[in-house]
Amino acid sequence: MENKLYDTVVVGSGPAGLTAAIYNIRANMKTVVIAGGQPGGQLMMTTTVDNWPGFARGTGGVKLMMEMQEQVKNLGVEIKNGMVEEIKSVNKMFETRLAGGERMTSKAIIVATGAKAKWLGIEREKEMIGRGVSGCATCDGMFFRDKIVAVVGGGDTACEEADFLTKFATKVYLIHRRDQLRASVVEQKRVLENKKIEILWNHEVAEILGEERLTGIRLINNLKGQEKIVAVDGLFIAVGHNPATEFVASLVKRDEDGHIVIGEDKNYKTMTSKAGVFAAGDCTTGNRDYKQAIAAAGDGCKAALDAEKWVKKIYG
Ligand SMILES: Cc1cc2nc3c(=O)[nH]c(=O)nc-3n(C[C@H](O)[C@H](O)[C@H](O)COP(=O)(O)OP(=O)(O)OC[C@H]3O[C@@H](n4cnc5c(N)ncnc54)[C@H](O)[C@@H]3O)c2cc1C
Repeated sequence: MENKLYDTVVVGSGPAGLTAAIYNIRANMKTVVIAGGQPGGQLMMTTTVDNWPGFARGTGGVKLMMEMQEQVKNLGVEIKNGMVEEIKSVNKMFETRLAGGERMTSKAIIVATGAKAKWLGIEREKEMIGRGVSGCATCDGMFFRDKIVAVVGGGDTACEEADFLTKFATKVYLIHRRDQLRASVVEQKRVLENKKIEILWNHEVAEILGEERLTGIRLINNLKGQEKIVAVDGLFIAVGHNPATEFVASLVKRDEDGHIVIGEDKNYKTMTSKAGVFAAGDCTTGNRDYKQAIAAAGDGCKAALDAEKWVKKIYG
């Protein structure tokens, strides 16, 4: 099987990966993007994006990412479908192997594989995304002005989201399956002192109610087994993220949640623990606390500029 040589292999086709590709191809670097199982990334799952600058009335997630892919192709980047299974360091270069066996060699790698929000796994949860169910308060909070919403989770993110949502909603339920929050003391205090937040301890969401839009949730008290229906307009799932970084576990350093560690080399702030391998977007420690498309795109730009500088230094 043919093994092509590239300057950069970009793994992932979300905002981080596609932005990195734009910058590297415009620096005259031969660049390929491996699109992965979700070409266009997570924004393909959302209807309206209101916080991407440049659109006076917002834009659609699918529209934005299709345009971005088109832009990347028009600039001359090759986009290949497929999943990367392994990246190996071979004689100063990198060999990337896709599922199915195809291999390619490159001088630099940019990993931009994102982090999938964990969902509850209950029926109709995915189908109701954009119709009341959300995985991101920063993205969708303002659609719930003067409404009642619920947040599921007990960590820092859930507490931050619950507190943030009180800027818009009249009431926020924080649904937690235990009798104690896992969040930091500061976050817990903020939630406990916020009069708009009611914590439903030892409760789990059993059912999503409503046809066209969410109208409520059926909860189960996991200690007593009692059920109750709570009317809500919005349901925010904040139970964590899974960075898609397992395939580079033996190549680069990751944090305890699987985010790729960057920022340890002061000359190349997006470089990982492996020289020549850069990382950008939601899969990194750099964007761990932000998880926003514009931040991921910004990281993609930085990783591409770092990769360009590094390739020039090593290969001239
Ligand atoms: C429902 C929803 C709505 C959202 N709304 C907004 C919003 O309104 N505004 C906002 O700013 N943010 C929003 N976000 C968050 C935003 O989508 C992410 O922050 C952003 O997409 C992260 O970009 P990324 O490029 O780092 O990763 P992703 O977009 O997750 O892209 C990761 C890419 O990596 C690929 N990949 C994964 N593993 C492999 C592999 N092994 N080999 C090859 N490719 C691989 C995937 O196919 C995908 O193309 C939303 C998220 C969700 C889920």
